[in-house]
Amino acid sequence: MSKKPFKKPSFSGGPKALLIGIIIMFALLFALTQLTDYAKTLHEFTYKEFLDQVKSGHVQSIVVNGQQVDGVLKNNQRFQATVVQRDTDFDLFEKYGVDYSVATQGVTSNFWYLILLLSVLLVLGMLSAWYINRQGKGNGGQGGGLFNMGKSRAKIFMPNSIKEKFASVAGAHEAKEELMDIVDFLKNPGKYRKIGAQIPRGVLLQGQPGTGKTLLARAVAGEAGCPFISVSGSDFVEVFVGVGASRVRDLFAQAKRNAPCIVFIDEIDAVGRQRSGGGNGGSDEREQTLNQLLTEMDGFEVNEEPIIVMAATNRADVLDKALLRPGRFDRVVTVPVPDLISRQEILQVHLKKVKIASDIDVQKLARATTGYTGADLSNFINTAAILATKAGLDKITMTQFNEARDASSMGKLAKTIVMSDLEKRITAYHEGGHTLINILMGDLTHPLHKVTITPRTGGSLGVTCMLPSGEQYLQTKEEYLADIRVSMGGRAAEMLVCNVMTAGAGSDFKGATNIAYRMVAYMGMNDVLGKAVYDDAYLSTETKTKIDEQVALILESEYQNAYKMLEDNRDKLDIIANLLLDKEVVEASEIYEALGMQQPETITLI
Ligand code: ADP
Ligand code: ZN
Repeated sequence: MSKKPFKKPSFSGGPKALLIGIIIMFALLFALTQLTDYAKTLHEFTYKEFLDQVKSGHVQSIVVNGQQVDGVLKNNQRFQATVVQRDTDFDLFEKYGVDYSVATQGVTSNFWYLILLLSVLLVLGMLSAWYINRQGKGNGGQGGGLFNMGKSRAKIFMPNSIKEKFASVAGAHEAKEELMDIVDFLKNPGKYRKIGAQIPRGVLLQGQPGTGKTLLARAVAGEAGCPFISVSGSDFVEVFVGVGASRVRDLFAQAKRNAPCIVFIDEIDAVGRQRSGGGNGGSDEREQTLNQLLTEMDGFEVNEEPIIVMAATNRADVLDKALLRPGRFDRVVTVPVPDLISRQEILQVHLKKVKIASDIDVQKLARATTGYTGADLSNFINTAAILATKAGLDKITMTQFNEARDASSMGKLAKTIVMSDLEKRITAYHEGGHTLINILMGDLTHPLHKVTITPRTGGSLGVTCMLPSGEQYLQTKEEYLADIRVSMGGRAAEMLVCNVMTAGAGSDFKGATNIAYRMVAYMGMNDVLGKAVYDDAYLSTETKTKIDEQVALILESEYQNAYKMLEDNRDKLDIIANLLLDKEVVEASEIYEALGMQQPETITLI
């Protein structure tokens, strides 16, 4: 569920709003110039001149407002003047037949300015109302609009619509065990209160996206038979200060009406990040929101119907420590990426929903999907089901599972991209470089699965696919370095054979840099930086520079190692590249055969 990236709110009124804004600006400017022109042609009489005009019978009509006079001469010329001695002046008007009236309200020549100002304000007001309205609606959910800004965007699920039970969550045994307590508490709060036990308030579920955090939270509500109120942390992040906090207040008001219930806040890191204590102004709103959340959680009355707040994140490390204090999210449940047994169980749950051939080996599928989350597994089965449908089958066979796995590890084919012969040659050597280093590094790397030089959507022109041979919980420094060297193999081969650098190596370097950075900054695998763990948030410029230097050294040294290895085994590199140019898609077994080498054991599906 947490695939949606954190969206930074912005004034994305769109081109339409911009256009309207520009039109208003121009209208305003135009009106102003018109008015100044008008003001210029308007004649200003001195008191004496004015009386002279009256006396010579040139004045058609006037409006007197206080001491201010707006008038029109008989030749239609407009003018302004002032009256000084009202009584005698009025007698004069009477005497010379001036059509005069006295304004009771502030109708002056400024009248038009006023009208203009008001209408501009009105239009601006309407425009911003329209904008805010749009914002409200754009963020989805009910209750958008100007007057609903502060309402929470929560979705409420009543017990009868929650089908999930603990049985729907495969694997995750430890997480489920911890959550059983919560279910029991929601069902029998009295039992706990009688004995004076500390009541749970918040549970933080931490784990990668797709590991089943939302599923678990719903299952808790399902088991307890209570409503499930779901909201995303990013729903609280707004441009307008105070809106987030008011949404939090509204959320908890809703929760109190529905208690006992579960409040589920997905992506809590969007609001729950470490408070900066100053810094940029944009964080003010978020801090207010977070403070409000803390206040609400502290404010639960012991004897009220229980509300359990469950929150999910994949970045528990960035959360404000205040969130984890007793009485708040004091229980942290880790939801891991499933291991072999759990994957088998998850696959079984999802395979029940599709038709499969009798020879489907679930254990084999589980072994071949190391690193897949629950969501990945569900997606994997769905992809296979679609492939089977397209192939006109009525059951999924191992062939579709094999294709589905390749599709997920290598990406989709981009059929519209046609490479030139030179591009093909460079790509064949680039992938050949990765492949050969992988083969030469032996057990230090994941076994080779397949190599292709068929372009993929997303821009890669080739893929060297390696798949883990099984569960691995610990990786050694040598293995990390080998991974980096394999990544460097692409560029090294390009340079060795074609003497060119291509952009294709960019993503290789990104992966390699990432590994090297973790080795240096987090895993104590570098002599210069030592065994300390360096927290990104508190890095001095000096330390940062040191880390970057060491990272660059590792990368450069592995690049040189890769280059040397390829140079020394140029004959093998040529064999692989030619095989690729010839067939475009090559299985690991074919490569080992062409090289006359023994292939290590891999997990194949067919
Ligand atoms: P998260 O909230 O951690 O991102 P979700 O709970 O949204 O993950 O999981 C997405 C989908 O993946 C679920 O709806 C379910 O189909 C599947 N899934 C994830 N974990 C499991 C699991 N342990 N058992 C069964 N299905 C799972
Ligand atoms: Zn590459």
